[in-house]
Amino acid sequence: MLVGVLALQGDFREHLLALAECGVDAVAVKTLEEINSIDALVLPGGESTTIAKLARTFGLFDRISERIRAGMPTYGSCAGMILLADRIEGAMHGQESFGGIDITVRRNAFGRQVDSFEVDLNMVGITAPPIRAIFIRAPWVEAVGSGVEVLASVEINGELHPVAVRQGNLLATSFHPEITGDMRVHRYFIESVCKTVVA
Ligand code: GLN
Repeated sequence: MLVGVLALQGDFREHLLALAECGVDAVAVKTLEEINSIDALVLPGGESTTIAKLARTFGLFDRISERIRAGMPTYGSCAGMILLADRIEGAMHGQESFGGIDITVRRNAFGRQVDSFEVDLNMVGITAPPIRAIFIRAPWVEAVGSGVEVLASVEINGELHPVAVRQGNLLATSFHPEITGDMRVHRYFIESVCKTVVA
């Protein structure tokens, strides 16, 4: 199995390192040929508007969207979650997403006071101890469709906001496991979502 990490903008290098650490073959992808050659995809954190625009500019947008909808296992962290969402609140004018997960995300949802923060989080599918989740101008999930499983939520002012979701072959987190040194979310993606066993 070859995992591609979309390398147009954002922290794709950290995802490449995390995947390599898990023992899978991972490559940076930024051409149509590369997009066509991979078995699974990771959409990194960064700036969702910029990544979508660059994907359009380089003629990759429709093919990525098509492959995601055709069932290619895909994981998006932070900006990557926004790119996998069917609907975006707080979108820039004309902002597009590849879509695939039946969720509405709110960009920059946590507001100024808690713009960036860390918390220990229990996540369905990840055995104890909790994972250290790092949020950087992160989105949260505002609404989920019936086929979407919520894997983790954060409580803000007494309200629970989903921050990790899965719909079939698609996984998204508001936070950035790629910068923690803890590979359990990447392993979950490889083993449970891609259903590939690595040594
Ligand atoms: N706020 C960014 C966006 O809307 C996401 C931030 C991140 O990926 N850390 O794209």
